[in-house]
Amino acid sequence: MGKTVGIDLGTTNSVVAVMEGGEPVVISTAEGSRTCPSVVAFKQNGERLVGVTAKRQSVVNPDNTIYSIKRFMGHTLNEVSSEQGRISYKLKAGKNGQACAFVPALDKELSPEEVSAMILQKLKNDAEAYLGETVDQAVITVPAYFNDAQRTATKNAGEIAGLKVLRIINEPTAASLAYGLDKKSNETILVFDLGGGTFDVSVLDVGEGVFEVRSTSGDSHLGGDDFDNKIVDWLVQEFKKDQGVDLLKDRAAVQRLREASERAKIELSSQMSTQVNLPYITAVDNEPKHLDLSLTRAKFEELTSDLMERVKKPFFQAIEDAKMQAGEIDEVIMVGGSTRMPQVQELVKQLTNKEPNRSVNPDEVVAIGAAIQAGILGGEVKNIVLLDVTPLSLGVETQGGIFDKLIDRNTTIPTKKSRIYTTASDNQPEVEINVLQGERPKAHDNKSLGRFHLAGIPPAPARVPQIEVTFDIDANGILNVSAQEKGTGTKQSITITGSGNLNRDEIERMVKEAEMNAELDKQFQELAELKNKSDQLAYQTEKTLKDAGEKIDEATRQDATEKIESLRKAVTTGEASEIQSAFSILEQASHSIAEKLYAANDAESAKAAQPEGEEVIDAEFNEEK
Ligand code: AMP
Repeated sequence: MGKTVGIDLGTTNSVVAVMEGGEPVVISTAEGSRTCPSVVAFKQNGERLVGVTAKRQSVVNPDNTIYSIKRFMGHTLNEVSSEQGRISYKLKAGKNGQACAFVPALDKELSPEEVSAMILQKLKNDAEAYLGETVDQAVITVPAYFNDAQRTATKNAGEIAGLKVLRIINEPTAASLAYGLDKKSNETILVFDLGGGTFDVSVLDVGEGVFEVRSTSGDSHLGGDDFDNKIVDWLVQEFKKDQGVDLLKDRAAVQRLREASERAKIELSSQMSTQVNLPYITAVDNEPKHLDLSLTRAKFEELTSDLMERVKKPFFQAIEDAKMQAGEIDEVIMVGGSTRMPQVQELVKQLTNKEPNRSVNPDEVVAIGAAIQAGILGGEVKNIVLLDVTPLSLGVETQGGIFDKLIDRNTTIPTKKSRIYTTASDNQPEVEINVLQGERPKAHDNKSLGRFHLAGIPPAPARVPQIEVTFDIDANGILNVSAQEKGTGTKQSITITGSGNLNRDEIERMVKEAEMNAELDKQFQELAELKNKSDQLAYQTEKTLKDAGEKIDEATRQDATEKIESLRKAVTTGEASEIQSAFSILEQASHSIAEKLYAANDAESAKAAQPEGEEVIDAEFNEEK
């Protein structure tokens, strides 16, 4: 077996790390850098470039240079079409409407999985060159708000790259692990992640090795690039004032300005002023023009003050969603290269009243956490159990539109639960399994993750077939649901991937809605249970009458049949008090029938008054409409 690495597959940059001699180590790329730009490009002859070589030629080959592919993972083209204006390559719909990157040099589109796999493959190759052995397994990180489709897409990317993905873990969880925060008991951690193009804030609870993401917020279009652009704008403006030339019209000049601006920004993280010197930036009437300007940290902070304002909103949102005060945060972790800016550190300190943890390199902290997780799985790192939890409850729709929960919210994963269901009508040939996620008792109010049919149920009276439904969530949070008819062994299953999943806003919304509607939901649930109970009683009494034959006199039979009818009528009209009274009346009648049958000392008939196998049946599935 080869080595297992930890990979931070980022929007702008990716990093690979490994456990060596019990310590996490970041592996440098073949080009000698500790981070690898998440960029893939194709030359006109089809040759593939990945990482810094791809990034370097992006200006001269914009159509064939794919970057920020992580934004499109697990999305349809429809969902992300508004992003087209922000990127230089063309998005196209692939299989099932999936968002893909069109590559003119290859005359075909590549899925986000394929592009990510190319980045992962480079990291794998570089790690193999460094370690001198095969790397065939990985732990890969994803943002906490990634839904199931995005996680599955990430896992697929790993598999395409020839890596067995042992675990997909949340980026803030990985960062917390890198700081050894798993050893803490009951702490609340704020992870502040400002990278090249995205900003994420997460609040996590940690205790006894379990990390739970309490809230997450962010701005998917705020990062270091925006700070660079502010400097570019300023340089262009100053140059125009000075020389009367608009550099924005010169594509090559803009690229040089961008690179110089990023360098200037980075220098200003450690110095109070920097010089931007770009000789021969452009030419006017064949006369070369040079740019030479000095930028102070104070000026830079002034230029970027609106960006700092934008940072505040998601921060407060995450705190509010976690239902806490900023002062209650125990630890603050900084992730992403842009948190090196002194103004960012100052702001976080002000907002949390805490000195942020900065001892681990912010570009590398997520990959290091992933490597530690790889070490835990490989047995190299002991005494840590890292567990994730389900963000919302999961279950199926049962008769009467009721959501029957199999796995509760906040259950530690991996987990597996089974329950037995049955049919609602006689000779029902198939059932539909509607897999739901949410907190509301009415099936309709929850999110349907997928549906499938289990056909081939042999003819049998209602409530006799036993259908075992199993929910199995693996360590990556990927859900597999199966249904098996116990008599024949017929089985059907689905793996939940795809479009209908939840993002972090939806999770929050659904939890809030459940809280707000608690009283109404309770009434609905009680009514639904009453209707179910009534259906069962009507059915059982009918069956008893049939089975009893001659043993029941005609008057009793007539009376009971009328009472069954009234109960069924009450159920359709749906008034709770009416159903309840019709139920009680029929229940009484049914008891006296049972008594009569016992009195006739016919034990076998009396037994028929009891439902068969009811103790194992939890609920019924509707017949197909
Ligand atoms: P990441 O996505 O975490 O790799 O972060 C990349 C971003 O961090 C880029 O915008 C970099 O320019 C920025 N960055 C890296 N180092 C520094 C630094 N010392 N000061 C300011 N920004 C930095």
